[in-house]
Amino acid sequence: MAQLAGQPILILPEGTQRYVGRDAQRMNILAARIVAETIRTTLGPKGMDKMLVDSLGDIVITNDGATILDEMDIQHPAAKMMVEVAKTQDKEAGDGTTTAVVIAGELLKKAEELLDQNIHPSIIIKGYTLAAQKAQEILDSIAKDVKPDDEEILLKAAMTSITGKAAEEEREYLAKLAVEAVKLVAEEKDGKYKVDIDNIKFEKKEGGSVSDTKLIRGVVIDKEVVHPGMPKRVEKAKIALINDALEVKETETDAEIRITSPEQLQAFLEQEERMLKEMVDKIKEVGANVVFVQKGIDDLAQHYLAKYGILAVRRVKKSDMEKLAKATGAKIVTNIRDLTPEDLGEAELVEERKVAGENMIFVEGCKNPKAVTILIRGGTEHVVDEVERALEDAVKVVKDILEDGKIIAGGGAAEIELSIKLDEYAKEVGGKEQLAIEAFAEALKVIPRTLAENAGLDPIETLVKVIAAHKEKGPTIGIDVYEGEPADMMERGVIEPVRVKKQAIKSASEAAIMILRIDDVIAAQKLEK
Ligand code: ADP
Repeated sequence: MAQLAGQPILILPEGTQRYVGRDAQRMNILAARIVAETIRTTLGPKGMDKMLVDSLGDIVITNDGATILDEMDIQHPAAKMMVEVAKTQDKEAGDGTTTAVVIAGELLKKAEELLDQNIHPSIIIKGYTLAAQKAQEILDSIAKDVKPDDEEILLKAAMTSITGKAAEEEREYLAKLAVEAVKLVAEEKDGKYKVDIDNIKFEKKEGGSVSDTKLIRGVVIDKEVVHPGMPKRVEKAKIALINDALEVKETETDAEIRITSPEQLQAFLEQEERMLKEMVDKIKEVGANVVFVQKGIDDLAQHYLAKYGILAVRRVKKSDMEKLAKATGAKIVTNIRDLTPEDLGEAELVEERKVAGENMIFVEGCKNPKAVTILIRGGTEHVVDEVERALEDAVKVVKDILEDGKIIAGGGAAEIELSIKLDEYAKEVGGKEQLAIEAFAEALKVIPRTLAENAGLDPIETLVKVIAAHKEKGPTIGIDVYEGEPADMMERGVIEPVRVKKQAIKSASEAAIMILRIDDVIAAQKLEK
């Protein structure tokens, strides 16, 4: 039996920091709120951008919440949970990352006020849980059913999601590309759609202008044909994918090869040559006329390939190899000796073309017609990067609507409606939880308020005006940030998939609740690096 009495028991190592109760809560709430405050100014069409500079001096300029948080080197554990909110939101719904984080921050702010009034965290958690559940029901009830493939709706939703990103001037053009791309990759069965976003590849090439961005039915690879003697264009392509090198491997151990006579040297070189020739022969034998290699291709192997009229590309990125496999139906092979005709993929055309003075490989008319590429163009690296982020969001929003066929009004309309309905619900629930549900309802107003604030409008005055108009005219009334007036957002074409809003409320409330549950932080001393 352990002897407990009379002896101090050291449970935690020296240097461990511990915060308990209110201290722990205060600290966590503060850290999480700082994260939300940081990205709050980017919300909405009039939101500002952030410039992030990493330790190597690389710069990212963006308006995208998930990207900002990803680039910031966040240390505090509670703040990291906010980053998780953005990541989950991005994964589940594709858009609404800033919204989710801003709501989480405001929920915590309101929770802190309740804690200051000595309301126990468990009551707040209960109220928030009830409110979050009810919010899902309300959103379902106000969502409008639309024909999922209604081109105009899809376009408006894509445009709403692109708003505020750097690509503002080309908003409509990019939205159209996003809709077209998603429609091409969508699978339809009995009027229901399923979209695998992985079928859409984004390839970026600096130069030209954003309006030169194009949709290509097939896969575009930022590489060139490796040898000038090879064909630059192959029709009815039979494609081999090899994720190794077309080289004779160097011995891994420090073996020394002693060559004492010219004959031996000759034999050695011939042996190498034979091995390379065998590899190339194998490729030809199985019937391939195009080969993509993930690693290098030896000069001699290039020579043989050229002689056989095979188009070869080297150092293809792993992700591109995977896209090619999916698009052409090819199987990626590691050992060339294992290559069989069944491993080959097919495409109507593989061709090297010049884009902005540089060569790129176009693989078109693939076996799987669902594979498409959006080739993004723009004046600088920062522009193409931001256009890519805008298109990524737009494509996901279009997918959400195509799959669910449900939309809601943006511009704060949905949040105001939720806020009003949750206030009524709070009274039904009554008891101590009522206060927490009311706080939740109040917190949601942060979205219309911030949209107004970021547009340079008076936040309080605008909010009062828009809530009054909303109560009078209905659930689609939000703020038109361009006019600075309440407006029917559906009519203005500011629409969002209901999935985005439902997920934003869900991830925001889950994060806030998780942070509120913590009343003890035990942090080990940092190891010296
Ligand atoms: P998120 O990362 O949350 O999508 P955004 O910066 O893209 O953040 O802003 C989205 C918000 O902006 C949504 O609430 C959306 O309804 C709103 N919004 C988009 N376009 C307009 C507009 N023209 N007028 C008012 N609000 C708009």
